[in-house]
Amino acid sequence: MKFTKVFFVLCAALIALGASGCSKKRPADASDLDIIKDSGVLKVGVKSDVPGFGFFNTSTSEYEGLEIELAKLFAEEIFGSPDAVRFEVVTAKTRGPLLDNGELDMVIATFTVTEERKLTYNFSTPYYTDAVGMLVKKASGLTSLADLDGLTIGVAQSATSKDSIAAAASDLGINVKFAEFSTYPEIKAALDSGRVDAFAVDKSILRGYLDADTIILPDEFSPQPYGVATKLSNKELASYVDERIKKWLDDGVIDALITQFNL
Ligand code: GLU
Repeated sequence: MKFTKVFFVLCAALIALGASGCSKKRPADASDLDIIKDSGVLKVGVKSDVPGFGFFNTSTSEYEGLEIELAKLFAEEIFGSPDAVRFEVVTAKTRGPLLDNGELDMVIATFTVTEERKLTYNFSTPYYTDAVGMLVKKASGLTSLADLDGLTIGVAQSATSKDSIAAAASDLGINVKFAEFSTYPEIKAALDSGRVDAFAVDKSILRGYLDADTIILPDEFSPQPYGVATKLSNKELASYVDERIKKWLDDGVIDALITQFNL
């Protein structure tokens, strides 16, 4: 009986110490930006395989591209330093859940703004618009979507590519099959081994997988406006982000980056 009492007193003391002594408690009404400022670093989800947008350069061990520069501009605005940013590599499949669980403050990763996605995430005004395209083997002789009647197209899960190509195929009155993968390297491997006949996604992303044996077809489908995404409940952060993107569109900062990265 005595032991149990001592045990409970000790537990209560430890809990009290942990709550008040170790962590700085934020007020329940702390703003989104204050929470980020308290954390000391801006956590941004980026791509590592999209040249000119979000690309990890293995020879310099640095991330580079338009989206990397936008992340650094946000860090500069929030912390006064472009280096106060931590990049986390995301895919089409992981970027949403990482925002939802709070691991990321924002995603700047070729994230296409769609009406459906706006129900789940906040998106800024688009900073760039791409289009869906297709990568095929040169040796296949394929020249356009019309040639893919009855063939299989590799697409990524949680990407806009499947719906975009399906709509274009139905307009052409052809039938295509889809094989879905969770990452782009898997789709490229499937193309190389002949398991799929084409790899469809935004042209900017395809450029990262282009090699001597493949070509990007001239066809372009569905405009893909890219926006900065934040968690749906972070409304204050979303309007802050949108204001900055609009400002950088107006004052030529984004245009200069588009030129710098040859986009
Ligand atoms: N931009 C497209 C999308 O948001 C392709 C997927 C991706 O960005 O990886 O669905």
